[in-house]
Amino acid sequence: METVSPIYSSHAKCPVCESEFEYTKVRSKAIKLKQQDSDFCPWYEGENPVLYEAVICPECGYGSHITNIDKISRNEKAKVREKISSRWHKRSFSGKRDIDKALEAFKIVLLNLKEREAPSSEIAKISMRIAWLYRYKEDRESEKAFLNYALKYYVDSFKNEDFSRNGIDTYTLIFIIGELYRRLEHYEDSMQWFSRLIQSYSDPAKKDKIPPRLIDTARDLIQEIKQDRAMA
Ligand SMILES: [Zn+2]
Repeated sequence: METVSPIYSSHAKCPVCESEFEYTKVRSKAIKLKQQDSDFCPWYEGENPVLYEAVICPECGYGSHITNIDKISRNEKAKVREKISSRWHKRSFSGKRDIDKALEAFKIVLLNLKEREAPSSEIAKISMRIAWLYRYKEDRESEKAFLNYALKYYVDSFKNEDFSRNGIDTYTLIFIIGELYRRLEHYEDSMQWFSRLIQSYSDPAKKDKIPPRLIDTARDLIQEIKQDRAMA
């Protein structure tokens, strides 16, 4: 029987330098989710699509999350040309990726976002994925550093940004902030954010907007924190 490769090539036009380039995706049929951690980090059987979510233009070094390739303003394009392309050595990121290659690509995307002064929620999302890549590698210290980074930008996003434009709803964001504080062992802060979520759920005007699964998980995690502390 002929086996079909789980990955394939797709094409995009770079919004910064306008060249056509190739990038690699995982076939949806090949994606088998095994489980998900409480901060939504997914674990797959076989090819892991997270590794391919950082898309890089080989010509100019423009990089973005796969869902946001065209989401860049004229002003931001100028910044990428000035700060990234001017220093870029042409190289390709297409083809099969291991975790290290994915890390390299994600760090280029992160650099792009910082140079562009992109919204905090986008910087947080990429930092979170870098933390997950380190989790796959069992490099706890680097994972923590990037969870910390993600937390800082998620909190900034919550306070200062219309994050709904980036597809995050308020309650998921509150949950993620609580969960990141928990993973970083800031238990007081974690419980405050989880409690904030649970309180919102008791408000009839908000209840329908909150996925019940988030509430169940937040309750479980609060219990876990309390038990850990009672034992300590
Ligand atoms: Zn380009």
